[in-house]
Amino acid sequence: MSATRLSPASTDSSYWTGRVLPSGLDGALLDRLLTHAAVGDGSRELTPVHIPFTGETLGWLRRGLPADINRAVAEARSAQRAWGADSVRARAAVLQRFASLLLVHQEQGLDLIQLESGKARRHALEEIIDTIVVSRHYAAHANAYLRPRRRAASLPVITTAMEYRRAVGVVGVVSPWNFPLILSITDALAALVAGNAIVLRPDEQGSFTALWAAELLYQAGLPAGVLRIVTGEGPVLGPALVDAADFVMFTGSTRTGRIVATQAAERLIGFSLELGGKNPMLVLADANVESAAEGLSRGAFVGAGQVCVSIERVYIHASIFEEFVERFVARVRGLTMSPTLAYGADMGSLTLPSQIERVEAHVADAVGKGATLLAGGKRRPDLGPLFYEPTVLAGVSPQMRAYAEETFGPVVALYPFTSIDEAVARANDSPYGLNASVWSRNIVQATEVAGRIQCGSVNVNDCYAGTWSATSSPVGGMKQSGVGRRHGAEGILKYTEAQTVTVQRWIPLAPPRFMHEATYSRWAARIVNFLGRIRGGIN
Ligand code: NAD
Repeated sequence: MSATRLSPASTDSSYWTGRVLPSGLDGALLDRLLTHAAVGDGSRELTPVHIPFTGETLGWLRRGLPADINRAVAEARSAQRAWGADSVRARAAVLQRFASLLLVHQEQGLDLIQLESGKARRHALEEIIDTIVVSRHYAAHANAYLRPRRRAASLPVITTAMEYRRAVGVVGVVSPWNFPLILSITDALAALVAGNAIVLRPDEQGSFTALWAAELLYQAGLPAGVLRIVTGEGPVLGPALVDAADFVMFTGSTRTGRIVATQAAERLIGFSLELGGKNPMLVLADANVESAAEGLSRGAFVGAGQVCVSIERVYIHASIFEEFVERFVARVRGLTMSPTLAYGADMGSLTLPSQIERVEAHVADAVGKGATLLAGGKRRPDLGPLFYEPTVLAGVSPQMRAYAEETFGPVVALYPFTSIDEAVARANDSPYGLNASVWSRNIVQATEVAGRIQCGSVNVNDCYAGTWSATSSPVGGMKQSGVGRRHGAEGILKYTEAQTVTVQRWIPLAPPRFMHEATYSRWAARIVNFLGRIRGGIN
């Protein structure tokens, strides 16, 4: 986002002149959404949001300042008191209604996600579906995740212990542009149902989708102050949010994640980071080659490869390498791209000019240093300014950028291997550890291989959808791909502080007056040891 100007109209865009999409989306609706941005007054500078498909302007965002973050956090902190004091059931009901509204208004959401991200409609649909699934999951299970738990105490009956989960307060969420709905909202949903308030700073190239989701949340009954959205630049608002929030949920690159972690550590606040990846896929000798090739054509090019869990490097057993390459390349050449706001396209456009430049640089560097281009490798200006063909490389070597750096685009490199040990070692030879895929007809073998891969999620006979959609199980990154997890118990308990409350009855946990201290210590140690043996430790 480089251009800046002062303008009175957020929908000063020829794209919307006289245009109303069949879903009801128009410039006036975008203007209304902007009222949900907690950003100063009308004097703030405006930033244009571009439509990746055409380069036209979708709308204008007010560019917030650190003072807006501080105000939003103060408002959220005050709103959190009543929200956090409400029952889990009441908060869960908001998530249930939100999921229903998403279903009803999905076409509008799909239009907006596509217009902001440039992704194909089928990939935008994944965002709607996942957000519904996460809403329903946390609405249904929050009570079980959060309920007070009786814990074993040192002396049965005499001491009782309870573990409570208290909301941390105000959770700051910083989200990137590649999943404007999922990454802004689903982490926030888990935090909200746990009783927290949210201050969200969505990426500029995803803010309208976040504001749209906020509108549905308010319609679902969320008190306004409980979710504050501040639009504007990440390097300005992100640090201000980390400075003011009680917990930070950040999704983005490993480089920025490290900055966020350092700042949060300085304040001794909790944080969760979902970062980059260079995700491997292993196709074992006994794999169904056709299924693996078909799976990869989805798993490498979902969201034009701008997906943290998409596959960028594929290790194929040498005995099936040629067959796999033939089938996969044929599939890739048949993939369709289109700037349409309808179903049918296999892939959309990249989202930002910096993205297409990086993709182009990685491919040129690889080809220039001797890699073989098996498919794609070109911009498609005939379709739109940011379209780039799905691209397949072979012969990529360590001196090429595409070998170890995250490309974050529609580029996949194929490598043969001769033994499973070699394939596992090569998959693990990365500072990243986000997502992996293993293909084999032998599920026992594939599961054993999965256990040896250093990634937070491993999908057998699938690329990413299996682990991502198992919402009750945590997903996230090992190594430099993250800290903490989303989904499941870990995805909600991280937004709480554990508090232990014990109640002591009749006698204190100290020597009684009538007993000599030496006698007491002998007996106390024996009793504690005995209880520990019969219940596997006191606690
Ligand atoms: P990025 O780190 O450059 O930016 C992410 C967001 O952080 C942006 O909105 C940016 O404005 C903001 N930001 C910039 N400086 C900041 C600061 N000092 N404090 C707080 N926020 C700041 O990443 P990107 O290039 O926009 O996104 C792509 C990256 O995100 C890729 O590496 C991708 O793998 C990763 N990602 C990871 C996941 C996951 O779940 N693991 C999901 C999506 C994307």
